[in-house]
Amino acid sequence: MLEMKHIKKSFDGFGVVEDISLTVEEGEVLAIIGPSGSGKSTLLRCATNLETPDAGEIHYEGEYGLVFQNFNLFPHFSVLKNITDAPIKVQKRNKDEVYKEARVLLEKMGLADKENAYPYQLSGGQQQRVSIARALAMNPKILFFDEPTSALDPELTGEILKVIKDLAAEHMTMVIVTHEMNFARNVADQIIFMDKGVIAEQGTPEEVFSSDNTRMREFLGKLS
Ligand code: ADP
Ligand code: MG
Repeated sequence: MLEMKHIKKSFDGFGVVEDISLTVEEGEVLAIIGPSGSGKSTLLRCATNLETPDAGEIHYEGEYGLVFQNFNLFPHFSVLKNITDAPIKVQKRNKDEVYKEARVLLEKMGLADKENAYPYQLSGGQQQRVSIARALAMNPKILFFDEPTSALDPELTGEILKVIKDLAAEHMTMVIVTHEMNFARNVADQIIFMDKGVIAEQGTPEEVFSSDNTRMREFLGKLS
């Protein structure tokens, strides 16, 4: 579903992503973990065309959806308009169909009664669920999440992780940058540990969490 080959990205001569290659198969969940500043967001931004890599190749199939740490909803659009705007304007899809699908997504996200609300009227958890509905409204083949819970209070984190877990159970292909180690361990098929712009460790959750890689152990030690 996604292939990145030898991706490199520098800012002001400083290599932030250095020769990273990865593959995500259909229905697979890839979790990317690693310390702050290790290049996780830059890699995700390269994958989603928000950043142009200096070198390398990216291939994927179909549409993708993107969910940010800070929700990035349009503040002056209602919930429904946040979800339907891109499918109608960018994808040029049939309005009635898009509205119908959006309402199904809102129902699924437990937000059926919020379609006319504005983002400021919603909790962080609700805003993030709108953001996930917005991403899903593009009918993506793959979803990218950049720390989807790190702007949320702990009690709201669980509801978002549950939504993502449910999507995984429906075999949605996903790439998730996260600091939630238990979640990564339980939901991911594949984990990449990034450190200083490179993949320092990669494998199944079992392999990565039992790795004796010094940087990985240090990273896990700091979190606990
Ligand atoms: P992470 O998501 O792992 O915390 P980032 O990819 O956000 O790491 O950032 C990695 C490094 O790249 C940081 O040192 C950051 O300051 C730098 N960086 C990211 N984006 C830019 C940019 N647009 N311009 C300059 N430096 C950037
Ligand atoms: Mg980041």
